[in-house]
Amino acid sequence: MARVQLEHVTKRYEDVIAVDDMNLDIEDGEFVCLVGPSGCGKSTTMETIAGLTRPSDGNVYIGDRDVTNLAPKDRGVAMVFQNIALFPHMDVFDNVSFGLRLRKYDDEEIERRVEQAADIVQLEGMLERMPDEMSGGQRQRVAIARAIVRNPDVFLMDEPLANLDAKLRVHMRTELQRLHRELGTTIVYVTHDQAEAMTMSDRIAVLNAGKLQQIDPPLVCYNEPANLFVAGFIGSPSMNFVQGEVVDGGLETKNFDVELDHAAVPGAGTGDTATLGVRPEDIHLARKADAVTHPTSRIEVTTDVLEPMGDEIFVYLMLGEGAERTMEEDPMESPDQLLMSVTPDTDIREGETVDVVLDRSNVHLFDAANGNALVHGIVDLPGSEPGTTPTEAED
Ligand code: ADP
Repeated sequence: MARVQLEHVTKRYEDVIAVDDMNLDIEDGEFVCLVGPSGCGKSTTMETIAGLTRPSDGNVYIGDRDVTNLAPKDRGVAMVFQNIALFPHMDVFDNVSFGLRLRKYDDEEIERRVEQAADIVQLEGMLERMPDEMSGGQRQRVAIARAIVRNPDVFLMDEPLANLDAKLRVHMRTELQRLHRELGTTIVYVTHDQAEAMTMSDRIAVLNAGKLQQIDPPLVCYNEPANLFVAGFIGSPSMNFVQGEVVDGGLETKNFDVELDHAAVPGAGTGDTATLGVRPEDIHLARKADAVTHPTSRIEVTTDVLEPMGDEIFVYLMLGEGAERTMEEDPMESPDQLLMSVTPDTDIREGETVDVVLDRSNVHLFDAANGNALVHGIVDLPGSEPGTTPTEAED
């Protein structure tokens, strides 16, 4: 087990900065997911930890060693990739033990480690199978077992579940969490899937355009996103964003006004433009909003499409001119649209005009200029600190 640190790591290619002044401090035994859209620098960050790429600037530490210039094999890391490269002509035992045999471990030790690893990933009884006799999930478990037998200080996993079907992916997530619990080894895990990151990590590192946006436990990223990027990336469906202007007593947007307690929003002065963020579950039908302790005034909307998901229903709401929107427009790009989620027992229908309220204790305000969070919750709750002052976003 080991701590992993990146200190001011930058990786430049000819015409692109893949990783831009990245500082990461991953604790010994932590499970950290690097998450972000395609091309944001996740794999490059991982490769600098693995030693497959040398940073242009900065240093990488594993444990208390500066490993920046060490070869991958000398770093105490084991990698699992998306493409499960097993030797097709070798059975499971030989695939798992390949690295140990190269390193000239004795037969007894090899057997002990392979059996222990097979036990952990539940491949007992399959050690004589050939790769083409196994399912995708089983093959991925062989790849993980091959990493386990090396007894690494750190596991580096780059989208290891990406090629599996949806059901198996969910199952393997649980298996990886169990593996982490059993071994306690530090895991750095790359994924573009925010749901995967939310469910598995101790902390999520959200990247965009080579820069670290926020590193925090999943629920902190969800409830207190550092900026607009994190707010929009974490959570599905995404947070709604509405531009507005701070006025006396509230925030004025094109279609509705939101009362805000100025004491709760020290960062927003009258006349400032701000972006209001509200998650679909924090919009409520006014007629059912008894439980909302800090509702906004009622906002009249027309319901558009309803999307039943089983455990919830997504309701597209049209405001103001949105009611005359053409079908070509992307509803989430328009300021005249909001997405609400309601429980399946709702009596709401498509095309109905209804009043909704926002839960002011759960809406977010972002600086319209730089996207950084100003505050989470715009009510000055009695007996509590005003809002939740956001942590500084990395520039
Ligand atoms: P992610 O894993 O988040 O999809 P990557 O780390 O693979 O992102 O890539 C980050 C950026 O660096 C991308 O713009 C990518 O095109 C670029 N990049 C990655 N590897 C190379 C390379 N070997 N040469 C040039 N550009 C690269």
